[in-house]
Amino acid sequence: MRGSGARAGAAGLGCSGGGSPAPLWTCLLLCGALRSLLASPSNEVTLLDSRTVLGDLGWRAYPKNGWEEIGEVDENYAPIHTYQVCKVMEQNQNNWLLTSWISNEGASRIFIELKFTLRDCNSLPGGLGTCKETFNVYYFESDDADGRNVKENQYIKIDTIAADESFTELDLGDRVMKLNTEVRDVGPLTKKGFYLAFQDVGACIALVSVRVYYKKCPSVIRNLALFPDTITGADSSQLLEVSGSCVNHSVTDEPPKMHCSAEGEWLVPIGKCMCKAGYEEKNSTCQVCRPGFFKASPQSPSCSKCPPHSYTHEEASTSCLCEEHYFRRESDPPTMACTTPSPISIVKKGKIAKNSISLSWQEPDRPNGIILEYEIKYFEKDQETSYTIIKSKETKITVDGLKPASTYIFQIRARTAAGYGGFSRRFEFETSPVSVAASSDQSQIPIIAVSVTVGVILLAVVIGFLLSGSCCDHGCGWASSLRAVAYPSLIWRCGYSKAKQDPEEEKMHFHNGHIKLPGVRTYIDPHTYEDPNQAVHEFAKEIEASCITIERVIGAGEFGEVCSGRLKLPGKREFPVAIKTLKVGYTEKQRRDFLGEASIMGQFDHPNIIHLEGVVTKSKPVMIVTEYMENGSLDTFLKKNDGQFTVIQLVGMLRGIASGMKYLSDMGYVHRDLAARNILINSNLVCKVSDFGLSRVLEDDPEAAYTTRGGKIPIRWTAPEAIAFRKFTSASDVWSYGIVMWEVVSYGERPYWEMTNQDVIKAVEEGYRLPSPMDCPAALYQLMLDCWQKDRNSRPKFDEIVSMLDKLIRNPSSLKTLVNASSRVSNLLVEHSPLGSGAYRSVGEWLEAIKMGRYTEIFMENGYSTMDAVAQVTLESC
Ligand code: AMP
Repeated sequence: MRGSGARAGAAGLGCSGGGSPAPLWTCLLLCGALRSLLASPSNEVTLLDSRTVLGDLGWRAYPKNGWEEIGEVDENYAPIHTYQVCKVMEQNQNNWLLTSWISNEGASRIFIELKFTLRDCNSLPGGLGTCKETFNVYYFESDDADGRNVKENQYIKIDTIAADESFTELDLGDRVMKLNTEVRDVGPLTKKGFYLAFQDVGACIALVSVRVYYKKCPSVIRNLALFPDTITGADSSQLLEVSGSCVNHSVTDEPPKMHCSAEGEWLVPIGKCMCKAGYEEKNSTCQVCRPGFFKASPQSPSCSKCPPHSYTHEEASTSCLCEEHYFRRESDPPTMACTTPSPISIVKKGKIAKNSISLSWQEPDRPNGIILEYEIKYFEKDQETSYTIIKSKETKITVDGLKPASTYIFQIRARTAAGYGGFSRRFEFETSPVSVAASSDQSQIPIIAVSVTVGVILLAVVIGFLLSGSCCDHGCGWASSLRAVAYPSLIWRCGYSKAKQDPEEEKMHFHNGHIKLPGVRTYIDPHTYEDPNQAVHEFAKEIEASCITIERVIGAGEFGEVCSGRLKLPGKREFPVAIKTLKVGYTEKQRRDFLGEASIMGQFDHPNIIHLEGVVTKSKPVMIVTEYMENGSLDTFLKKNDGQFTVIQLVGMLRGIASGMKYLSDMGYVHRDLAARNILINSNLVCKVSDFGLSRVLEDDPEAAYTTRGGKIPIRWTAPEAIAFRKFTSASDVWSYGIVMWEVVSYGERPYWEMTNQDVIKAVEEGYRLPSPMDCPAALYQLMLDCWQKDRNSRPKFDEIVSMLDKLIRNPSSLKTLVNASSRVSNLLVEHSPLGSGAYRSVGEWLEAIKMGRYTEIFMENGYSTMDAVAQVTLESC
């Protein structure tokens, strides 16, 4: 097949035209510059490149006088395998050129890049009738090199190839080379290799090069995990999930994952490895902690210096040893300083009353420095999970707010600059019982004296009441002192017991390991109860089934039907309710999960949180009874009433949801599934957050999709960090709130329309955000974008969102500026560059980019002349 005698490249270029057009133009192709195109991207693996084969290519032509190889060499005397055919003057051409067998190396989708020139038929005198301007490419799969003799009709056609540019005699004169490049892909391939065939039916072609390759995602280290070279999938839209392996000295609970796209790009990293204890991350590797430094667990971000009075001389230390005479308790974390023990050995009880116990103790013998304060921990005997800690600067305290006739355990420890000493041993004291004897003792006192006492008490109470207004006012002043003298128990009704506490004392309550801040209730996870039934009955009232009348079915929940009906409690007016039922044949887990929602809902009391009336657990069906919301779920309601509300009404709905969410986040509850479908709306357009649950919270949401980590997540509503590594926080709820804002303003439009979940993840990760809904006030869209900041700490908090919306409601004209219609890109995501990201060099450039260039002057006049100044603008100052 090789041409007769190779000509040197330079000589080749010198050849001049002859009777046949072929020799002349093939000369033009021998351009050394082509060699510079040889480098292929790192995600392409070449299976065959005709330009780099030094010896015989071994291709065959049928008939033999059809395709012919021109044996040219380049300036380095390397052969250039070019095949040509130009039977444009002859009828019925059918010239085949077959490659040798090409192994696909395990790839199931391959690409074929053809470089060729094609002569313009118009420029061929006399050839017009028979001349063609296309050729065909075929393939035939086979497991070995024996399949070459198969018949033409067994080849499968890949495509007909036409030239983008054909050339004429004129171009030849100018030595202009019009080289065409076409790429086709084939897949899925099922055998080990294949042949390619090129069929000419009467064109004037030179096939300059054929490159066959497949794509792979090249091996990469991401999040301390090594992802191997991965051949892309057979399908052009397929994402392959690939597990990474942790690099040296790193560990993980669950292997991280990434997705290899058909284009050979790594997408959507999920999860990460962490440097194990004693190692820290530097430049994508785990490096050992130096002597004097330690890292206690994989979760700690970096090696830390040994805490005071501790040391390590070893590398890779996971903790530091205490210096001589210094100690750390076993239960203390390794980050804690070592201290000399100063335990308080003697605690004495003083005055004991029915609600209080006075204690005193001695300063430790060797306090190891100045004692800064004492910590007094106490709890009711056998109820250690619910304890209180008070801090005091003195060596005595009166602990009040205790139950009468109850035994309490006390432990005290001191704190110095070196840290805490150990707790003292447990001291057990009992409050006195409620005394009925007092009245019998008093029976000896003349009745008149009792009357006077009662009179004084009443007078004091009345004066106190008149002067201070409310008993729960902390500024009770002398009136409250008077009340205290006259009627001591009033102090306790005056809310939190601080009234009688030393101002130097601080009191913190703990329940099952959660800090209970004074005045702020904290959500208690029903999981922390060993017996879930106990949690239900602690937080939900039991209702007798006979008090409930079910009227009609209004919806379907995961556990059974949702009905509307009426509740008539003894001594109360009948009122409408919603009733969720647990379907018959439930498992114990289903019952637990179903009632779990009530255990959570029952802890909340807020006008924008769905209110729990109670539960029916003692008879069947098991039911959860809540207030009735006439307009049902918000997404359906908005879709039904598209365009029917004023902007203020929509902002009012959003304000309600934000207020409910503020309450939840203050309680320490993270919703995880905030979406318009989980908001209920009543006949007064009051929106209430609903759908609370335990593990099942996302299981019953049809929007929830399984992530690669196995969890189910409503992708479109969920913050990227929650999708990627399950970091669900109130800040991720804020992200979801931004999506709810978008749903509300667009009257129930589906976020990201019909995009697939994978595309949504990718787009959001790449910085794209939903565009403004139609007719959306600019201030609302800005708030949405703030909620969708990638950095969760930069998102507004729910209290800021509430005050921002309140400001807009108070000043409705602020809602008149709509997002510029021309900058609103309908149904397209917009690239979102957060402020201060350094993406813009000037305020003007940034404003131009967001189509707000006309405000540049106003920004300058108000002193916002740099991006830093703009970045300082908080929601509050908006
Ligand atoms: P859920 O199982 O909570 O998602 O409820 C299923 C459906 O029942 C909801 O989408 C609402 O349409 C309806 N629904 C649930 N709770 C109430 C309620 N308190 N008032 C009115 N409709 C409700």
